[in-house]
Amino acid sequence: MADAVETLTHPPEAHPKLRNWSSTYNVSPELLFHPTTNDEVALILKEAGRKGKKVRAVGLHNSPGPIWHSNQWLISLRHFTHSSFPSTSRTAILGAGLSLRDANPLLASHGLSLPTLGSLPDVTVGACFSGPDHGSSAFHSISAGAAKAVTIVLPTGEVRRVERGDELFRAAGAGAAAVGIVTEVEFECEEAFGLEFTMSRTRLEDYLDDDDSGRKLWELARSSEYVKLWYYPGPTPTSSSPNTVLWRASRCPMPPPQQNTLYTRLSSQFTHLIHATAFFITTYLFPFLQPWLNASGYWLLAGTMPKTQRLRSYEAQYMDCGYWQLVDEWSAPLPAPSSSAKSPPAPAAQILRQLITFFASPEGKRVGMHAPMELRFSRVKGEDFFLSPAASYGELLGREEKEEDLVMWFEPIIYRPLNLPTPSRFYTFLISFESLFRSRPASRPHWTKPTLTLLRIRANQDVRPGEAGAVEEG
Ligand SMILES: Cc1cc2nc3c(=O)[nH]c(=O)nc-3n(C[C@H](O)[C@H](O)[C@H](O)COP(=O)(O)OP(=O)(O)OC[C@H]3O[C@@H](n4cnc5c(N)ncnc54)[C@H](O)[C@@H]3O)c2cc1C
Repeated sequence: MADAVETLTHPPEAHPKLRNWSSTYNVSPELLFHPTTNDEVALILKEAGRKGKKVRAVGLHNSPGPIWHSNQWLISLRHFTHSSFPSTSRTAILGAGLSLRDANPLLASHGLSLPTLGSLPDVTVGACFSGPDHGSSAFHSISAGAAKAVTIVLPTGEVRRVERGDELFRAAGAGAAAVGIVTEVEFECEEAFGLEFTMSRTRLEDYLDDDDSGRKLWELARSSEYVKLWYYPGPTPTSSSPNTVLWRASRCPMPPPQQNTLYTRLSSQFTHLIHATAFFITTYLFPFLQPWLNASGYWLLAGTMPKTQRLRSYEAQYMDCGYWQLVDEWSAPLPAPSSSAKSPPAPAAQILRQLITFFASPEGKRVGMHAPMELRFSRVKGEDFFLSPAASYGELLGREEKEEDLVMWFEPIIYRPLNLPTPSRFYTFLISFESLFRSRPASRPHWTKPTLTLLRIRANQDVRPGEAGAVEEG
């Protein structure tokens, strides 16, 4: 038994260097395992128990936050890339190590699509189920809501298939590997579809109700099957000028795949270069220029709108996320407004008002928040994971739950031009940002994004010295 791990198909790697997408972390676990079967995963977990080692699962280690970090044992599922498509139903059984970049075209080739996806294709199926990955739709839950069963290896080494409704399934979904290692996910898919999306100009303030009931926001979220907003805090020519991009998509027949030409790749790189140069100047040299840069960026983009395009569903939901960045994301309740004229305030609407007011204040301008800030929506019904930040909140708000209750996601994006440490004023902002959510009922963090709580816990270990200092200062 002492050398049980030596029987594995692939020997573990000792102290490999792993980085996340934004290169904000360097992680070097004692051992990184690459099992090939459920039995091998079970063997590793049992051996870890025997040796008193802590184990975590890792996908493509792209999470912005430290949720996948370990200085002890990590298990990668990269050999679990199998797939099968039962002919009797519209389901797909996908290995936990398959990336969505590979899985989505594969699903399409079987005439299937997942109902909703986040912006990043480089996410493994295991992480898509285990993190609260979400896109933006008032008609769909977080991505894990499409799973109907998973195969999971428990810390005891027991291999279990658990289904929607089982307690263990509810604990594993959006549960960040807390209950076991997921090796396979069975998704309930839809017939393959395309999305016709339109980007148009709008003003975020127009969606605030006087009573903060959230009615206008809720109606906007439900105005198409997929809706998201990119808010550009900064000066506008008049008090009614637009400052936000409204992205709305509805289904269309499946178009042919998008062609990723050399021209599109080069123009994307060129745009990133221009963006990073401008943001370097405002982030490190002249922060007071940032609101003006946001406004100019918005007007350049606005010049191309309204813009309509048809893409495959997954291509339309992916986004060119640019380059290195520090992000944080929280959800807040946006309950379906009551039919009577008066509804109690919605936490999402209250928080949105506070953020808009903050960005317009002298203090907010001093922070020089980067644009855009991404605002998205998820449906609450359709999943019942214990740890989901989009789980139902009726009881916590003291309100009756409704089928059409939503959460609204708030994601500030702080770019890191040249991958330099983030100035401390942004951490100070994030502390205030998080406190807006902490002070409201049922507002919850996205587990894979670096909430300050997680950063604090791991500051001594993983955050670069400049950042750790900044967090502690805050
Ligand atoms: C540029 C960018 C854009 C993003 N856009 C979005 C977005 O639009 N919406 C959104 O919700 N998120 C978004 N994210 C977050 C990202 O989708 C998640 O962090 C995702 O989990 C990363 O996938 P991964 O395979 O790298 O997982 P990892 O970072 O490796 O792991 C994430 C979590 O899943 C757990 N895990 C991984 N595999 C397993 C397994 N087999 N069994 C059990 N647990 C497992 C890990 O332990 C960890 O807790 C974005 C991230 C980036 C960098």
